[in-house]
Order: sequence, then structure tokens, then C-alpha cells
Amino acid sequence: MTSSAGALPGMDHAARRDRLRALLEEAGCEALLVTRPVDVRYLTGFAGSSGAVVVGASPADDMLVTDARYRERIVDLDVAQVELARPVGAVVAALGSMPLGVDAEHVTLAQADRLESARDGRPVVRTRGLVAGLRASKDVAEVARLRRACNITAEVLRGVAHTGASPGIAERSLAHAIEHAFREHGADGVAFPTIVASGPNGASPHHEAGDRVLTEGDLVTIDCGAEVDGYRADMTRTLAVGDVAAVPSRLREVHALVEAANAAGRAAARVDGDVASIDRAARDVIATAGYGDAFVHPTGHGIGLDVHEAPLVTDPSAASLPPGATFTVEPGIYLPGVGGVRIEDSVVVLEGTVDVLTDLERGLVPALSDGA
Ligand code: ZN
Ligand code: ZN
Repeated sequence: MTSSAGALPGMDHAARRDRLRALLEEAGCEALLVTRPVDVRYLTGFAGSSGAVVVGASPADDMLVTDARYRERIVDLDVAQVELARPVGAVVAALGSMPLGVDAEHVTLAQADRLESARDGRPVVRTRGLVAGLRASKDVAEVARLRRACNITAEVLRGVAHTGASPGIAERSLAHAIEHAFREHGADGVAFPTIVASGPNGASPHHEAGDRVLTEGDLVTIDCGAEVDGYRADMTRTLAVGDVAAVPSRLREVHALVEAANAAGRAAARVDGDVASIDRAARDVIATAGYGDAFVHPTGHGIGLDVHEAPLVTDPSAASLPPGATFTVEPGIYLPGVGGVRIEDSVVVLEGTVDVLTDLERGLVPALSDGA
């Protein structure tokens, strides 16, 4: 299948550690202890759930700390030093009086206390968002993984749009079929639990998938994503179950409005542009039509190793979009007791272009259409 064919470009973890290293002096430290698993993965490729990395003053100082359960997973890593047996506290103590930073967003007070007592009371330096800031701009290898994850997601949703969301199928059966299809198309896993919200359940943005059976004339909101090598797609389409003509006219109007808001949001995206203008562009379409109070969440969020990461696409926000920023545009209208519509695309901004990674028509098509 096209979406899963071909080798992906290799990841240059050493280059990422070098970019982090260049930030340390200004942050007031000579070494940074990174403990959040997804950040450790970003910096080293180590995907175990228990590990930490110290990025030091030079590449020779970099060190991954994990335990013996992960002996096989460390074979191909390019980190200068790997510690399998010593606890993080002992490694930190061995760094002596060197100013050591931690990410204050991801270290608990208890962990900070333990690190400081391992350092004979010398304080650790509280830094904020250094790795998150690097992760906000994806390199070529990351964009390739997201592109593949999004291609798989769009292919599977295309199949659902044509044959899958039939009257009579339960939400949870459809969710299961989608997740199974991701793997059949070459995904490594599921980015997050699939949302299938039919009929009135569509009014809840985070309804997952329950026992309700899809019924002719429903709208069904399907929000799902494939995962490839840790990178997570995020995509939503809202389909008609059965004949489009059986969908209440108010919901068809709402669908067209959300489609227009999605297009306006994508059109406002550009390299070095601000995220607030994307949120405003999408929200204005919905607010002008009188549904402003029914659009109850930000227009989007960053995607990558986490399905929700920086930046939040909201207004106000000071965040802007560096080349390689990947994020969603996902306006929605939610009408309690009636139903809802959300249309979500994953997007990457690159020099001179804005690529929609989740390429699939957005208009209200009958779920049973045999398409073309
Ligand atoms: Zn989503
Ligand atoms: Zn999303």
C-alpha cells in the first residue's frame, strides 16, 4: 500500500542533543537532566518507559540512564554513555557541583527534593520548555513519519466513508474496525482511543465510542489517528449515516459552516505566522453565523510524538509557527441533545508551502456512497 511503502529517513538524535546543548548556557546550567519519556525518545531514540538522559557540555558527556530490562533496546543508540544499573540519583551525584538543570514542567517537587539531596543540597536549576521548544519545529525525518501516519489515517477513513459507517453498526464496532485497519495499512499502533460519536453523542467533543447503534439520518463524528514510529496523526471527519437527505437540515447547515471554518483556519496558516490568527479565522466563520458559543475548544494543537503538544492554536496566544510546525485545525459546533460536527486536519507549515497531511474530502457525503 502506498501509505506504508518505502523506507523512512533516519533520525539524527545527536543533532537534536546539539541543538539542546546550545541552549544550556542561557538557561543557567551546564547539563540538563531530561526525564519525561517522550522527550528522552526525542533526544535519543530510546522508547522504553523508564529512562532519563543527561545532555552535557559536550557530546562525550551525554548519558542515557535506564535499567537492565532495556538491555536490547540500547544497542543501536548513539549516546556516548549508557548507564544500565545506577539510579538517576547516583548519576546526578557523580556530576559533582556542575550546575544541573531539570525541566520544571515535568519534575515533581519530590523528585527535585531527591535530586537535590543526592547533590548534597546543591539546588537544581529550574528550566522550562527547552525540549518542547525544539520539538515544536519538526525535522525532515519527523515530518516523514507524521506524513505516513496521516496518509494511513486518511486512507482508512476514506474506506469508512465509502462502506463502513452503515446504519446498524455500533459505535464501538466501528472504532475497533478503524483501529484494526490502521495496523493492516502498516501503522505501528493507534495514536489515541478512536472517537466515534453518533447522533446526539456528537454534541460531546470527547465522547469515545459506546454501544449506540448508527441510525439512518445521523451524523457520525469519527476522530482517529494512526501512529508511526511514535508519531501521531490526528484527523476528524463527520459523515452522514445512510442518505444525506435524511440528515436534519439544521445539521447539514452546521456541517457546511464547520467545513468553511476549517478552510478559513487552514488558509490563515503560514511559516512564522501566529497561531492566534488561525484560531480567529476559523472562529469568526462560526461566530458570525451565530454559533460562537457552540465552538467550545481551541481551533487546534501541535502534533508529533504527543497527540497534544505545543503550540495550542488559540487566541490569545503569542505562539508563532516555525518551519516544520505540525498542528491541527479542528473547528467544531456542538449542540447538546441534538448532535455535533467537527472537521479536523493535520497540517505542516514549510518554507513556501502549507501541506495538509490528512487529504480527504470534507463535504457531507453519504457513508454508504460507493464514492468515486
Ligand atoms: Zn482529533
Ligand atoms: Zn486534535
